[in-house]
Amino acid sequence: YRRLINMFGDVVMGMDHHVFEAAFSKVKKKYKVTDDTEVPAEGLKQLCEDYKAVYKKHTGQAFPQSPIKQLELSIMAVFGSWNTSRAVRYREIEGIRGLLGTAVNVQSMVYGNMGDDSGTGVAFTRNPNTGENKFFGEFLINAQGEDVVAGIRTPQPVADMPKWNRAVYKELLAIKKILEVHYCEMQDIEFTIERGTLFMLQTRTGKRTGVAAVKIACDMVKEGLIDQKEAVLRVPPNDLTQLLLPSFKPTARNAADVLTRGLPASPGASVGRLAFTAEEARERSEAGESVILVRKETSPEDVDGMNAAAGILTSTGGMTSHAAVVARGWGKCCVAGAGDIDINEKGKKIKVDGRTFGVKDLISLDGTTGEVMAGEVETQEPKLSGDFAKLMKWADEFRTLDVRTNADSPADSKRAREFGAKGIGLCRTEHMFFEADRIIHMRAMILADSEKARRAALKKLLPFQRKDFEGIFKAMNGLPVTVRLLDPPLHEFLPHDSSAQKAMAKELGVKPSEIVKRAEALHESNPMLGHRGCRLSVTYPEILEMQVRAIVEAAISCAKKNIKAHPEIMIPLVSTEAEIKIMKNLVINTAKKVQKENKTKIEFLVGTMIELPRAAIKAKDIAKHAEFFSFGTNDLTQTTFGISRDDSGKFLNDYIDNKIFTIDPFVSIDDGVKDLVEIAVYKGKKQNKKIKLGICGEHGGDPKSIYFCSKAGLDYVSCSPYRVPIARLAAAQAQLKIK
Ligand code: PEP
Ligand code: MG
Repeated sequence: YRRLINMFGDVVMGMDHHVFEAAFSKVKKKYKVTDDTEVPAEGLKQLCEDYKAVYKKHTGQAFPQSPIKQLELSIMAVFGSWNTSRAVRYREIEGIRGLLGTAVNVQSMVYGNMGDDSGTGVAFTRNPNTGENKFFGEFLINAQGEDVVAGIRTPQPVADMPKWNRAVYKELLAIKKILEVHYCEMQDIEFTIERGTLFMLQTRTGKRTGVAAVKIACDMVKEGLIDQKEAVLRVPPNDLTQLLLPSFKPTARNAADVLTRGLPASPGASVGRLAFTAEEARERSEAGESVILVRKETSPEDVDGMNAAAGILTSTGGMTSHAAVVARGWGKCCVAGAGDIDINEKGKKIKVDGRTFGVKDLISLDGTTGEVMAGEVETQEPKLSGDFAKLMKWADEFRTLDVRTNADSPADSKRAREFGAKGIGLCRTEHMFFEADRIIHMRAMILADSEKARRAALKKLLPFQRKDFEGIFKAMNGLPVTVRLLDPPLHEFLPHDSSAQKAMAKELGVKPSEIVKRAEALHESNPMLGHRGCRLSVTYPEILEMQVRAIVEAAISCAKKNIKAHPEIMIPLVSTEAEIKIMKNLVINTAKKVQKENKTKIEFLVGTMIELPRAAIKAKDIAKHAEFFSFGTNDLTQTTFGISRDDSGKFLNDYIDNKIFTIDPFVSIDDGVKDLVEIAVYKGKKQNKKIKLGICGEHGGDPKSIYFCSKAGLDYVSCSPYRVPIARLAAAQAQLKIK
């Protein structure tokens, strides 16, 4: 009876269950016992009266005595639960639409608390953490379901059940088999034993880790329960991340002290002590310490430190901010835009949730959920098992969409190829200049006050660029490599701090004040919409010439070494036909010149990015001069919405909370952006039937967006190296679903 009042008050009347627990504690104290079952009958009788009083106090009514009334109210509560904000949000996230509501089953109960021959439990038909085909779960003797959930008593593993009741255990194993053969899926079951008789309460598909999902899918094919197609469809692509990167041990993760949540900018798990400058992060990492680089935002000056650090944490910036894009490329854990963290870079402290952390304090970052946790949470290394390779092979057989990678260095290209990339869809050439010995020339080029000075800086950049291209072509031997011409948002490349300004002054032989002056002159109010992309080459064609020279010379050098280079030269941020026409002529003329000088011919394509709404709408004109389109959906999303990629982190959560967006449009492609892509595909193909179509924005690694790309008729998606296996699986699922 006391359970009825408790459950009814909590579930039906929405009372806080603590008020009941407080009343129960008082009674236990009176009888000087700790366990619920130790309270004598007399105490329980008293407790029922106390519960009724508590119920009346909180609901303003007496506890209903008629069973029919209790049932009626209970049924109404189940119907009501359909529209709670939690349920509505759950359906939104899971994409569940078009249902009328929930049903209610009324049935008689069995009791697990009828003595020591009774009990209750929850189990999975296979291990949900590892996927091992072994019955896995817990049970409690002389207890009801809520006792397991409330955590007051510690349950025993089901493996210990034979010691208590071997017959029931055997029966459960037989039921496990029946259920799996029927559902062809791992099941999550609840059961009760009343006076030695087993009753099954419910069964449903069990949730599992990525590792378990892969193993269960492969094992079930082996056992003849499902076919390869079904196995490929069974594994949620994003869950593969857990197989590729370090992760937190589930038990440690559950017990972690979460301080705040930022954007899950780059997945993985990292633990380290705080470092507040890139230099400090590098030095301490080199000395063997594991550090987390904490910055308000990152700039290319931080790249060395970002690379050295175990993880990166920023308080501003969105999913496509510099830190996020760079970290994802490296498979480095990054939480960005954690706005609740107050960073005092000078004082080397962060304040969050009323607590302060400094350089000696450990924190843990979960780049998969965006959570920031205090202290060290235990991690585990990934294992690329045979099952993973098997599943990937099946996926490759079913997909038609190609998967390329976004990579800017020979090392990243090599890694991406190991993950199964079939070419490079985006090599961001400005990323090749992040390192200290290069950025100085890059800055000299940007800050040059004459064509002569600019050409001098470009000359210094040429050998770096040529060598990198050669390395990338070699790593991708025989596969296409899309090289995008320079597209540096200038604000990311200007020297911000005084030591960088001094170094630049020395390099250019001017006073530091002159550097400050030139940097100020280059300052843009909206750098993302500023002098970037092909606009830079319209003003300074010598930049484009240097890059095309480096690409062609590298391809020629490869040809001489029998390495098959297939460069695809890509012009960024085009919006008009005249722009691409001028750019293409410059590319062709430079390439001709370099080939003539070397008396060697090479094959290459020239194409463009479609990343501005005008380019998508006028795709027919642009396709006259392009052999391929690559959709830059980062900029296309930014410009379609007029929402800055760099600043959106500040208000995107409010947009999601207010249901204006169901998901961050920089993560999963938006319907309006989809329309623009479809227009460009249609018009581009109309002009040039053979036009090659791909996507290289961050959406290229997002399963939902990949489904769209497959439907829209693109030839390939391109994503960061660590997302390549995810994209391969998502592309196969898209194909199977479309079919
Ligand atoms: C894009 O805009 O989608 C793109 C790939 O280019 P970037 O992110 O370098 O601007
Ligand atoms: Mg872009």
